[in-house]
Amino acid sequence: MNELITSSAAALADKLAAGEVSAVEVTQAHLDRISEVDGAVNAFLHVNTDEALQVAADVDKARAAGESLHTLAGVPIAIKDLIVTKGQPTTAGSKMLEGWMSPYDATVITRIRAARMPMLGKTNLDEFAMGSSTEHSAFGPTHNPWDLDRIPGGSGGGSAAAVAAFEAPLALGTDTGGSIRQPAAVTGSVGVKPTYGGVSRYGAIAMASSLDQIGPVSRTVLDAALLQEVIGGHDPRDSTSLPDPVGNLVEAARNGTVAGMRIGVIKELQGEGYEAGVLARFQESLELLKDAGAEIVEVSCPNFKYALGAYYLIMPSEASSNLAKYDGVRYGLRALPADGPMTIERVMGATRAAGFGEEVKRRIILGTYALSAGYYDAYYGSAQKVRTLIQRDFNAAFAQADVLISPTSPNTAFKLGEKLDDPLAMYLNDVATIPANMAGVPGISIPGGLADGLPVGIQFLAPVREDARLYRAGAALEGLLEQKWGGPLLASAPVLGGVK
Ligand code: GLN
Repeated sequence: MNELITSSAAALADKLAAGEVSAVEVTQAHLDRISEVDGAVNAFLHVNTDEALQVAADVDKARAAGESLHTLAGVPIAIKDLIVTKGQPTTAGSKMLEGWMSPYDATVITRIRAARMPMLGKTNLDEFAMGSSTEHSAFGPTHNPWDLDRIPGGSGGGSAAAVAAFEAPLALGTDTGGSIRQPAAVTGSVGVKPTYGGVSRYGAIAMASSLDQIGPVSRTVLDAALLQEVIGGHDPRDSTSLPDPVGNLVEAARNGTVAGMRIGVIKELQGEGYEAGVLARFQESLELLKDAGAEIVEVSCPNFKYALGAYYLIMPSEASSNLAKYDGVRYGLRALPADGPMTIERVMGATRAAGFGEEVKRRIILGTYALSAGYYDAYYGSAQKVRTLIQRDFNAAFAQADVLISPTSPNTAFKLGEKLDDPLAMYLNDVATIPANMAGVPGISIPGGLADGLPVGIQFLAPVREDARLYRAGAALEGLLEQKWGGPLLASAPVLGGVK
């Protein structure tokens, strides 16, 4: 396999800076890989060949002219198709936006352009980011590179699969309840949900605004840190954006250590409902961390058991409001009623019936109901109170531990179709990731080994604005595990990833 596509982003950046390779060669190698494997993986909804090569050629020219460039200049990236991009279509995985071209760039895209990173294209997702398997995409599911009959997680299955199949060294995802971390877990990649407000949401198509966060997907912890430093920092266009950056992430990722760190094992995020293989890998990681000098403590977060239930009131409520704008009037799809009067209500009804898939409709109905007069206090109001209790659980846990740890997902990648008709089984995939979104705290998932040949993810959580701790602990565990395995986990992927 071409060494350029198996290199980390950091290694590519070094090779580019040393003049060992050109940005055009690096970009072309990834575009070739996409042509070779994406028919089977379906990670990409749009491949941005011409523009990516143009940006790469400009980087090479600038470097030759002696211009000073960003570290990641010329390192390609894939973008989840929930993030708006000028000059490339943005669909949100929905027929509602098929063929739509955004007239503006998201702030993260503006920053990627400023760093001069070639954008390889837009990646597949569950429609409007609602799902845990990418099977709710209107454009067909993405396949897990470890086993093409299995799901790549969701909603950001396209970004995770692209990185795991070596189609891109880096990708952007969005995480409302786990859509960066859970796909990373089941594909053996790294995914980070930054502190809420740490990365601008301007131009991320809103699902649930109080939970949504853009973040990096990569194959190494250091690469994720490099990318978060590109996209993070204050943005006046996002009213929830934090005023200053959240610490020196790259420095933390380069100096991974857990010596003297108090790591809190969340009692409630293990045991019943978690696959035995997942728990076995989790225990192994705990042993390694202990041997490396971490102090392992048990913490209890009793209200986490209500997190999933509260999430499925708050998230649909906010989504029902955010998705009201797809009405066939402003932009996107317009469908006309088959017969009868052509009133605006009937055009809206026909448009929303034709444009939205089943899962999106289910959540709009749920959210509209939860917000309706008479039910607001009982459902939405109660869920917000639960949210406060979850925040208090985190505060108490972080009084005892510097970071918290759990499996990222209770299970490994399941078969395509296995949970499609069972929404509750699908929702349970995020039982360990949702608490972080409810409290705005940052989380990382790193590969923790295999169970029955499929990747298991290990999640670290840190207090708000302490993203650097995630990178420090994540890099440490990554190093310990790779030492044990004799190399990165993805090097052993049997189907498409395998580089040995
Ligand atoms: N899987 C979760 C859901 O379906 C999370 C989605 C997300 O993070 N975008 O809501």
